[in-house]
Amino acid sequence: MCKLIEQLKDIELAIFDLDGVVYRGNKLITDSDKVIAALKELKIKVVYNSNNSTATREMYVQRLERFNIENDIGDFYTSASITASEITKIKQNATIYTIGEIGLKEELKRCGHKVINTESDHDKVDFVVVGMDRDLTYAKIAYAQRCILEGKARFYATNADSSFPVATGLLPGAGVMVNAVEICTGQKPIKIFGKPNPEGIQSILKDTKSKPTNSVIFGDRLNTDILAGNRAGVKTALVLTGVTKISEVDKLRGAKTNSPDVEIGLIPNIVISSLKEIFLT
Ligand SMILES: [Mg+2]
Repeated sequence: MCKLIEQLKDIELAIFDLDGVVYRGNKLITDSDKVIAALKELKIKVVYNSNNSTATREMYVQRLERFNIENDIGDFYTSASITASEITKIKQNATIYTIGEIGLKEELKRCGHKVINTESDHDKVDFVVVGMDRDLTYAKIAYAQRCILEGKARFYATNADSSFPVATGLLPGAGVMVNAVEICTGQKPIKIFGKPNPEGIQSILKDTKSKPTNSVIFGDRLNTDILAGNRAGVKTALVLTGVTKISEVDKLRGAKTNSPDVEIGLIPNIVISSLKEIFLT
């Protein structure tokens, strides 16, 4: 059986980011399936925490099944599912306008909220929730602006990732949509529920009854995965299969010694070029 490297030998919970860690677009990242299976064989609990709000958790179950990764709906914590449960704590059965895709809309509906379109009365909207929307239009931004400035809607966001890794390279991320609403309303989101907000990881720790010191997050982005992990006190492993280059980590490490102002939360505990490096050879 595989043995884990020294830094991860006490791990009981492994949290995986998805895009850029497990797969990139519709391509599995080499060996991620084998590493996940090997961790499960070691009786380590595996869950997935993604900032991508475009898909429902059922869609993620099917996506991982296509890659022959066994999983369960309860293993997924997406920025859409986290947003839906947090919004429900603020107000039940709310009327919500989303700039977002099916994942966000369905997760909100499942929690009992009414998700409306731009034809609805803007005065009745409680929340504008913004996430990644690949069908963003001027009309959607204009309606969100109207709900917030002329109505009573409060502005929240799923995440603010600048980019989104796909098989062929990078695409614009949800941060572009969030910034659009921010600029035309002059308001920042009251809260961004996805990473680097550590609350998602904290709820995973609570649900799985895990201690931060026995948990690790594998992510490809410093200002979301690694920052959230460090804030939640779990071990952080940067995998160089997604958006971050090793030169960015080297720069941060160098800057840290020269300036105390550098956000040390951005610095991962471990940097690996491939997930299989977590096992001793
Ligand atoms: Mg990622």
